[in-house]
Amino acid sequence: MVLFSGTAGTGEAPRPEYVPAAGVVKSFGYDFEYNAASGTLEIRNNGSRALFVLGTNKVFINNNARFLQKKTVLKDGQFLIPADGVDIIIVYLARKRPSWQYANGVLTLRGESTRIRDLSRQKKFGPGSRNYPYDIQVIVIDPGHGGKDPGGIGYNDIEEKDIVLEVSREIKKELQKKYRGKEIIMTRDKDVFVSLEERGEIANRIKPEKNPIFISVHANVSFKLDASGYESYFLSLTPFDEVAREVAQVENSVLNFEIEDHNEYIKEIINRIVDIEYRRESAKLAEFIQNRLNGTAGPKTKDRGVKGAFFYVLRAAKMPAVLVEIGFVTNKEEALNMQRSDYQKKLAKGITEGIGDFITTFNRTEAFTK
Ligand SMILES: [Zn+2]
Repeated sequence: MVLFSGTAGTGEAPRPEYVPAAGVVKSFGYDFEYNAASGTLEIRNNGSRALFVLGTNKVFINNNARFLQKKTVLKDGQFLIPADGVDIIIVYLARKRPSWQYANGVLTLRGESTRIRDLSRQKKFGPGSRNYPYDIQVIVIDPGHGGKDPGGIGYNDIEEKDIVLEVSREIKKELQKKYRGKEIIMTRDKDVFVSLEERGEIANRIKPEKNPIFISVHANVSFKLDASGYESYFLSLTPFDEVAREVAQVENSVLNFEIEDHNEYIKEIINRIVDIEYRRESAKLAEFIQNRLNGTAGPKTKDRGVKGAFFYVLRAAKMPAVLVEIGFVTNKEEALNMQRSDYQKKLAKGITEGIGDFITTFNRTEAFTK
């Protein structure tokens, strides 16, 4: 197809589904390295790296995982990158707006060549604006339990499901006030039962490029009736040390091609790296929330810290995810506090501010790549 640029009526080349990686690196003159054994293609420019994994929708930008809508494929000996993968290369490696066209084997950028960093100061292309790639656009609030599942039952038969729903509603209200452009999703907004799988499904329906985050709100129980305080958990499939050990093992055995199913092995490891990536972001989110709760709930209760653990609901959500235990329903004083709307507002304010810190950091570090 021939492009008559500037000729009225002909329009521009349609956005292709895929672009050959060779076309991208040749057009821009980028360094690249294809590793047939692991099926990985690394494209480098100006100290930044994009690592595509063949047959998956994962791309690592300076070791941070992002997800593409389509998988990379090998066709007729060509490594094909889906269109949104090309967007990512342009945004992170060229630091330009992802506006491009591909025709006759050549990839060209459209329009002006202003750097994104400069553009980000303008209203048109800053955090919160449409098409800004480093923004948290959706926040999922997950009030624990509900319906037939009361959660923890505490002092005076106070039920966890009621308290966490109240606090979650407050969080939603606060977030809506603070962030008009963002979508706030509740996994339940009334006293109904929602399974853990459904909660994960609700979250995973959100497009990854909207950079969603997931906050599950719970209250604690203990046989020790004087136990009190709030804690934030971040999550992953496997205990931290185990994953760290396995990744280290891989680093040490990259050249061991004697492993029978090496590609499968590498894929498995890459899955785990993704897990680590969300763990890092999740741990940050947990830390921010915990710190802010300390400020708002402060002297009335106890800071029990940030912890890593396995929770099914967090495993289910493929995004940065935390679970906040806002206090103990089994502690008389805390249970009574948690029933009061002024205290619920304090908890919600702390959690909202923590989410705000995460959003600010995400914007500033361009999705933790800087
Ligand atoms: Zn719970």
